[in-house]
Amino acid sequence: MTILTQNFTVNYRYQVCFTERLFDLKNPHLATFLQENRVNGHSQKLLFVLDEEVLNAHDYLYRAITDYMAALQDVQMVRELVVIPSGEAVKNEPVYLEKMLAVIHQHGIDRHSYVAAIGGGALLDMVGYACAISHRGVRHIRIPTTVLSQNDSGVGVKNSVNFYGKKNYLGTFSPPSAVFNDFTFLTTLGDRDWRSGVAEAVKVALIKDKAFFEWLEINAQAICARNSAVMQEQIIRCAQLHLDHIASGDPFERGSARPLDFGHWAAHKLEHLTNYTVKHGEAVAIGIALDTYYSHLLGWLSLADFERVYRVLKSLGFQLYHTDLQVDTLISGLREFQEHLGGALTITLLQSLGKGVEVHEMNETFIEKAVQFLAQLDTVHE
Ligand code: NAD
Repeated sequence: MTILTQNFTVNYRYQVCFTERLFDLKNPHLATFLQENRVNGHSQKLLFVLDEEVLNAHDYLYRAITDYMAALQDVQMVRELVVIPSGEAVKNEPVYLEKMLAVIHQHGIDRHSYVAAIGGGALLDMVGYACAISHRGVRHIRIPTTVLSQNDSGVGVKNSVNFYGKKNYLGTFSPPSAVFNDFTFLTTLGDRDWRSGVAEAVKVALIKDKAFFEWLEINAQAICARNSAVMQEQIIRCAQLHLDHIASGDPFERGSARPLDFGHWAAHKLEHLTNYTVKHGEAVAIGIALDTYYSHLLGWLSLADFERVYRVLKSLGFQLYHTDLQVDTLISGLREFQEHLGGALTITLLQSLGKGVEVHEMNETFIEKAVQFLAQLDTVHE
């Protein structure tokens, strides 16, 4: 018998830049990135893909991108700007993935070219996946335009589309080449998308950083009132916590634990049940409330601590109950969550505010009690 052993390490490094007016001719960040990553003698080709709603809200973009690229040396921009309708439909309907694969093919995007995607988390997930599977990986620059994609989804290493009716069923772990968070985009978000991503900040604060949770308690109303400076600070702190987490443990999720998915097992099910009319962050807020009360039922959190979490989510403007929260469907969501990760069921709950803890079973009676409690509170708060 012969056994050869293979062993190597791949070092990933990418920048997450926070800026405003990325395509202003005076903004150096994208130009510097391209210059620093130039391979001698080769011009760099870039294909831009845009979320349709972002383009509608920022109609100067095509001109701004074209002018910015024209000012750079040895950079070749594909003249066609690929515009894709927005929202979860881009992950649900294979036609959009096929369109991306076709344009990557038609424009000769190779492994030294870049696809730069500008949009919300759904578009970035789908485009990232198309890039990852074309030529076994073309380079992907992310330019997130929602709070959720700037503070969470756009800065990480995952991409995906939904398939077989299952959220994120097809996807890969493939880090972006760079991320440019341009705060200017956030000004045109509707209130729901403005607040939605902040649920991910509450999530990561609750499992990792009590001081950040306390900061969110103090600043929730300012965020809700659309204070841009406070929102920007929230985004940078939240993105940093996500980056730290990815670098510190299991970036490609080889184990069965996924601590950053606190509140997500119920959220994924709720998004699906409501045909994605409940947005990802909105569903996560409900999932957080549910798992926080469940943690209280286990005796780990006081009722006062649960109320602090509930209050901060309410101050941000979230609804914390939905009639589709039924115990039997939630239990099937739990099974799907386990199947997605593989291995033992692993759910993150709260040991205390700022400290997550993993459990490997969930008690149906407690889930039911938690759902009933959220329903009851909802009638009081309406
Ligand atoms: P989204 O991409 O659906 O965007 C929400 C809406 O806002 C869309 O209609 C979009 O067109 C619009 N929009 C985007 N930017 C805008 C702007 N600047 N001005 C006006 N409108 C704008 O939603 P999202 O909350 O950004 O992302 C949710 C997705 O992210 C889900 O599919 C979720 O599964 C995924 N996600 C991925 C990861 C990951 O690690 N890859 C992590 C968390 C969530």
